[in-house]
Amino acid sequence: MKHPSATPAADVDALFGLDALDTGAPPDECGSAGHDGVRGPAAEDRSSFRDSPTARRLLPVRTVYAEPGSAASARGREILARFPDAEVTEVDSHWRIPGLHGNEGNVERWVRVKGETLVLGERKTLTTRPNGRSADWIAPGASNGCAMACAYCYVPRRKGYANPITVFTNIDAIIAHLARHIARQGRKPEPNQCDESAWVYDIGENGDCSVDALISDNTADLVRFFRRRPSAKASFATKFVNPDLLALDPRGRTRIRFSLMPAADSRLLDIRTSPVDDRIAAAADFLEAGYEVHFNLSPVVLRPGWQEAWTEVLRHLDDVLPDRVKRQAAGEVIMLTHNRELHEVNLGWHPRAEEVLWQPALQQGKRSENGALNVRYTNRVKAEAVQALRGLVASHAPWLRIRYAF
Ligand code: SF4
Repeated sequence: MKHPSATPAADVDALFGLDALDTGAPPDECGSAGHDGVRGPAAEDRSSFRDSPTARRLLPVRTVYAEPGSAASARGREILARFPDAEVTEVDSHWRIPGLHGNEGNVERWVRVKGETLVLGERKTLTTRPNGRSADWIAPGASNGCAMACAYCYVPRRKGYANPITVFTNIDAIIAHLARHIARQGRKPEPNQCDESAWVYDIGENGDCSVDALISDNTADLVRFFRRRPSAKASFATKFVNPDLLALDPRGRTRIRFSLMPAADSRLLDIRTSPVDDRIAAAADFLEAGYEVHFNLSPVVLRPGWQEAWTEVLRHLDDVLPDRVKRQAAGEVIMLTHNRELHEVNLGWHPRAEEVLWQPALQQGKRSENGALNVRYTNRVKAEAVQALRGLVASHAPWLRIRYAF
């Protein structure tokens, strides 16, 4: 499938500011930046990466929409103090901000909005939902939206693609809710695929906690809270290496899951994120800092040569990860789920992504509860691909226990 208006790769890079994470460190022979585990920011003060020029370039916040209660809260005041030059506009609800959310406009606007705009709101509904696959529970997240712009991301589905980060400032209420929920569970009665002994809470369903930590202490507060919960563990997936998280002393009670995919796919699809090699290179530092470090092989996108490309990823993991990381690592395999509406949006700005994401011959549709048409690989295609990927893991990274494949 060819799209005549496809954006050349170099143009896509320029469009999305993919050099935003470039810290100027000279590339080594492998083409990755020289680093000692965490790229670039290691050269800066690790205790304040979020105040570094690199982070400021990624999130040059100029506009803040804030619910009045949020702006007046302790967390809200901290955030506003971090962006003193930003223009603050009061809004009744973080859900209804005319002209901000939605798919209208062009991608330059969306990406600018994601970096330059913040929303402060209060999370009204505090509900923890059962999951059972990646985590036992999905916690009420401390944010919604993301400053990254991955082409397959489902996070913007409710607010539209131009969905900047909404920070929920009532973090104390979220943590109090979690404390009650964890206390009610008692001890985990038996091991399951989520964890041997701890109830696992996914704290980052609708965003990326590493990116959120560039803005506020919500992620830090959650990590510190779980530090004192021996029967529970926080978990979040990330595509961004934020060295500030290394200082949080999680004492094994937070699982960080670095999402991985072949570098060529990531360059095409993982817009604005840290390079995959940097995520892998950061694993040992995060383990040493007290995190449990897992890997998400996700999303797995089927395209010509996908098995060779994943073989390369797995061999690289095997080559560079120290044994101490391998001994505790586990992985999740998540096959691509796509969506017709997202497909149509993407065709307008990033049609090259759709050349690999939208594969009607391999996919089947399924109407979701909210009426959207989700698209997955057919049962047969998916089963064969999962089996093939499991085989690749067994051959090239046999130490990587697959917790589940979906
Ligand atoms: S980093 Fe995660 S939450 Fe952010 S755009 Fe990418 S997939 Fe979505």
